[in-house]
Amino acid sequence: MIFARQALLGTGWVTGVRITQAEGRIASIETGVTAQPDDTCVDTLLPALGNLHSHSFQRAMAGMTEVRKAGRDSFWTWRELMYRFMDHLTPEQIEAIAALVFMEMQEAGYASVGEFHYVHHQRGGVPYDALAELSLRVMAAASETGIGLTHLPVLYSYGGAGQVALAEGQLRFGNDVDRFCTLVDAAGAGLADLPGDARVGIAPHSLRATSPDDLARVLGWHGAGPIHIHIAEQPKEVRDIEAWLGARPVEWLLANAPVGPEWCLIHATHMTDDETKAMAATGAVAGLCPITEANLGDGPFNGQVYLEAGGAFGLGSDSNVNISLTEELRTMEYSQRLRDLARNVMVVGEGSVGQTLYLGAARGGAQALGRDAGEIAVGCLADLVAIDAQAPALCALAQDQILDGLAFAAKDDVVTDQWSAGRHCVSGGRHVARDAIVARYRGAVGALLATL
Ligand code: ZN
Repeated sequence: MIFARQALLGTGWVTGVRITQAEGRIASIETGVTAQPDDTCVDTLLPALGNLHSHSFQRAMAGMTEVRKAGRDSFWTWRELMYRFMDHLTPEQIEAIAALVFMEMQEAGYASVGEFHYVHHQRGGVPYDALAELSLRVMAAASETGIGLTHLPVLYSYGGAGQVALAEGQLRFGNDVDRFCTLVDAAGAGLADLPGDARVGIAPHSLRATSPDDLARVLGWHGAGPIHIHIAEQPKEVRDIEAWLGARPVEWLLANAPVGPEWCLIHATHMTDDETKAMAATGAVAGLCPITEANLGDGPFNGQVYLEAGGAFGLGSDSNVNISLTEELRTMEYSQRLRDLARNVMVVGEGSVGQTLYLGAARGGAQALGRDAGEIAVGCLADLVAIDAQAPALCALAQDQILDGLAFAAKDDVVTDQWSAGRHCVSGGRHVARDAIVARYRGAVGALLATL
């Protein structure tokens, strides 16, 4: 039983709320009641977001790529360092880093994660004895932390647009379609060791890392479930795809693949207004990663046009350079304000930006991860976060201002409790397994740095 002083249900704000759970789902909701002796009492209960895009191993290189060297630094020099770093990672280190990342996400208020997993093989591209070894390591980290996992093995077959061969640093990613399908099946078998809300989807890495024929084959093989793809993150990527396939990435994908609500287009950053409206009409989710997109200098999303067209969206932490839900929310809006020289951009007509972003990302994140979540309602997964709305950053606000306060005025330390499909993973602002996870992470990173 959870008792909350107030909660934001799918139907709006209520006070004096008791929630019961059964098998990870919300079984009943009472309102206008008082706490009972054995209740877990919290201040303000919200639906918890799914973090729809993560490459967990990149967390360990946060802060290592912020120095300018010889000329203008760019996404592509960042990627070179990422390759070198990743070249040394062991399965144990990948698991330890993923556990830290998932723990930090939960402490920031996320209940679930879409792990876009592209490191599959040993250095040089030799498969592990168990083909899905590294997927199973990510799953072990999810199991340890309790986060709701949507695991997304990545199909990565080429080193650049036009079926360029994989380069040295990319060999650990590489699979042809046949081996990829075998790997996805092996990862799917790993679900047996995870709670029932875990999922496996697929993720063709990007148009530049696959081919039209391969993409058609893997989509034909895939049954139901999430399909994620990086789509238009950088202007160079748009130019390369246009030169190769004769259309911009989003334009090409919409014309050549059955894009619909099971799809999530990560970094749909560089879209014309026509592409933006066409993408919104498919029902696919735009996977936005504001902190990483700012960090990498990707550019701002075409937010207002997309929202006005009714497009679905969610938030991801991508490179995990800084795992902060409150900062993702405000960076999303601030990127729009800085471009447009305007305030309150990410809202249709009149209304609250914080509510539009938070509740939109709750729905879109759940959709993208294939989770029956995104609102507090009977029958939904108990993906819940409790915040302290009496903290100084929020205490002056009325109920309908709390999500604006969360997005613009608060830090993640207002999070007190978090549940992933009913698993109570954060209490008193700390993950229940924090000490062990942090100690193992320190050891893993120390060992990794010694080999770089
Ligand atoms: Zn990514």
